[in-house]
Amino acid sequence: MITESIAIKEIVAYWSHQEDESGLAIDWSEAHVRCWRCAYKAKLQRCHIIPASRGGPASVENLVLLCGRCHREAPNVSDSRLMWIWLRASCLPFYDMYWTVRGAEEFENMFGRLPFSTSEFSKDMKDVAVELLRTEIGRATIHWGEGRLNPSTIASIFALVEEKLTGLEIKRPASSAISDRFFRYLEWLPPR
Ligand SMILES: [Zn+2]
Repeated sequence: MITESIAIKEIVAYWSHQEDESGLAIDWSEAHVRCWRCAYKAKLQRCHIIPASRGGPASVENLVLLCGRCHREAPNVSDSRLMWIWLRASCLPFYDMYWTVRGAEEFENMFGRLPFSTSEFSKDMKDVAVELLRTEIGRATIHWGEGRLNPSTIASIFALVEEKLTGLEIKRPASSAISDRFFRYLEWLPPR
């Protein structure tokens, strides 16, 4: 059977009886319009749980619905447990926040701290900051489309808004997060 011929609603109907929605990013009532991983409204792709290349069939029990961004990040392994653990790992209490959180995570990679976490940023700047972020993220979405609004773009918007409000110039941190992580990995994975 060709994957595209399986209706979105059939996939939702099947999984809504298999998986409890508590701890998932989406409610089953919106699972036909929102990505099951990031929970944003998007054109949904049928994603194999066990990849076709590893013998996974094109049938409802082997398909979940993901946006293009999440489809590219989904696990490609022949054990279906990992897909559901991965989907549940992105559960947030609100819709339309997942990629903002990923942007904050990327900001932490770039600057070694969370956005808006310096003493120069005061509580009374919060409302203006939210407004500026909304405008800038909205502008970026219109220019490049949702797919291009990746975590590093969101992180950069955080940095620019922060600089505008606090007057504190954007600068590189003393060390890089990935090199810190590399040395932590070395503790259990010594070089050969
Ligand atoms: Zn998604």
